Amino acid sequence: MYYSNAESFKKATGYEIDGVWYPRVTSIVSIKAKPALYHFYAGQASFAAGEAVKAKSAEEGTLLHETVEAILKGEDSPIPDSVAPAVSAFLDFKKQNEIIPQQIEARIISKKHHYAGTLDCLAELNGQLGVLDIKTSYAIYRDYGIQTAAYVEALSEAPSMPSLKRWILRLDQARHCIKGCGSKMREKGGNIKIRPAKGVAAARCPHVWGDLLGEVELKELPGQEQDIKAFLASKALWEWENDYWLRQIFRK
Ligand SMILES: [Zn+2]
Repeated sequence: MYYSNAESFKKATGYEIDGVWYPRVTSIVSIKAKPALYHFYAGQASFAAGEAVKAKSAEEGTLLHETVEAILKGEDSPIPDSVAPAVSAFLDFKKQNEIIPQQIEARIISKKHHYAGTLDCLAELNGQLGVLDIKTSYAIYRDYGIQTAAYVEALSEAPSMPSLKRWILRLDQARHCIKGCGSKMREKGGNIKIRPAKGVAAARCPHVWGDLLGEVELKELPGQEQDIKAFLASKALWEWENDYWLRQIFRK
């Protein structure tokens, strides 16, 4: 990444809170390589085409995020057609589970480790308090543990905070093959991805895609202690990488 000066670095990678600059959790976790991304880029016509798909896909993810957060806040906002199947899956989830949000899109700060972030939701879910992070991805990746561990660690600095759970709520939408082979087709950022079901039947099936259906998956993440270690290791590496700018900011 190139930054023209310390100010642009600070803006791009952190938050200024009460006159103090903190690096952002999502900037820090981005230091970890994501090998799956190479496969994604390799499947695109060009790097620029891959970037365009990623940007469009991020935009769709943001729209779904905002819609779901508005629902959690109890706001009566319209549901955009493009994300309606996923939102409908979320509404079903909400009916089947007791979810009481305490903070939505809340800023967290770790004074101990010096970082800040924005968590999607601190909520009581079926009677247990925890961080609920919403993802709009193909699957629940292990990397999500690093990000959510940072939020839990920061929240736990408050002396009265009880021990917190960590959950990923994955929301997505896909078309299923109506021939019954079990394969799925997902369109994101204009990119079509077919996930064939395992087996000969799926390989030979002339897929016929049905309506877009919402998907919802909740996963509790175990291993806070292991994940916070990985986060702090990522932070050390991120600081090493950005040493030039950090020296200017902190006049080391
Ligand atoms: Zn099929």
